[in-house]
Amino acid sequence: MPNTSVEQILSRPALSKDELAYFLTTRNKQEKHEIFLRADKVKRQYLGNQVFLRGLIELSNICRKDCYYCGIRRSNEGIDRYTIDRDEAVDLAMYAWKKGFGSVVIQSGERTDKAFVDMVTDILQGIKQKTGNELGITLSCGEQSRETYRKWFEAGAHRYLLRIETSSEELYHKLHPSDDIHSFKSRMECLESLKKSGYQVGTGVMIGLPFQTAEDLAGDLLFFRNQNIDMIGMGPYVSHPETPFAKFSKFILPESERLDLSLRMIALARVLLKDVNIASGTALQALDRNGRIKGILSGANVFMPNLTPEDCARKYLLYKDKPVMTDRAEQTIKNLEDSLATFGQVIGYGKWGDPKHYFKRIMNN
Ligand code: SAH
Repeated sequence: MPNTSVEQILSRPALSKDELAYFLTTRNKQEKHEIFLRADKVKRQYLGNQVFLRGLIELSNICRKDCYYCGIRRSNEGIDRYTIDRDEAVDLAMYAWKKGFGSVVIQSGERTDKAFVDMVTDILQGIKQKTGNELGITLSCGEQSRETYRKWFEAGAHRYLLRIETSSEELYHKLHPSDDIHSFKSRMECLESLKKSGYQVGTGVMIGLPFQTAEDLAGDLLFFRNQNIDMIGMGPYVSHPETPFAKFSKFILPESERLDLSLRMIALARVLLKDVNIASGTALQALDRNGRIKGILSGANVFMPNLTPEDCARKYLLYKDKPVMTDRAEQTIKNLEDSLATFGQVIGYGKWGDPKHYFKRIMNN
């Protein structure tokens, strides 16, 4: 980009779709370096030097949806379905609390039946009660009715992560069957309904999908901003052999490039959105042993150690090579601490680590 320095462009309050797409793809090493430098500067300026932990509990792999890319889709008959029971889920959350993780994330395949809705409610109440309201709780259990979102909020969940998967409606249709339970419009309405219910709202996308362009990804970054999103959880697409999308594997970027693109997305999200929380997701780890730490060093500020018992984590196989080692191993946190220390960052033990953006958003409403 002649005449204007990268630093100057990235310091502007707004970036255009073309500029973002350019930064996602530039092969100029110095320009790329400056993107990460700027992300680091913004992160320190807006968030300080703390990284927050969220213990991840993969509650169930039973799903009513049939997304073409996902390993736990309804039509995949080759997997054993499980649901962690109420008491075990509460125990896992207690473990997180005792270890000083500020929050947990409870994620699952999508079910909307009463038994499931009630079980989640019961788990939320159990966690709140047993931790004296101290543990923060994020839910990521897909599209639900407004009543269910309200019920779970009242039971104690205060954050909700629902990825839009892609903000391009055209690409969304390629990724999902065309029916009522896979509608782009409904997913958008859910994000709205989550905001109205009072949650800190997170969304995100998969990066490096078949048919996805740099312009699509630039559009995703602008979507996060236009939707006034508080938290971002995004990561690379990784193919799963038992899915319809496996046949496109030869058309996707090689692993190292998909990782690089994902890290650039994190950095540019930080540059553009500034005061939001950004998670460094598990899928980064599928592409690189140190993927999640690289995510943190690229601008993310939330790390999610996986607390799911190994036999279940093995069955929560969204994509091939998903890391199933359980992060209850002290070593994961120790490695994170050491890497963070090198860069003057620390873990914010025992803190919820709410995104500042949320408080600004509700003040302005
Ligand atoms: N059912 C919940 C969340 C469970 S899946 C929901 O609908 O929100 C969590 C996330 O895993 C999805 O949002 C999707 O972005 C991601 N995912 C699924 N399949 C994937 C794949 N093959 N590669 C990378 N990420 C994938």
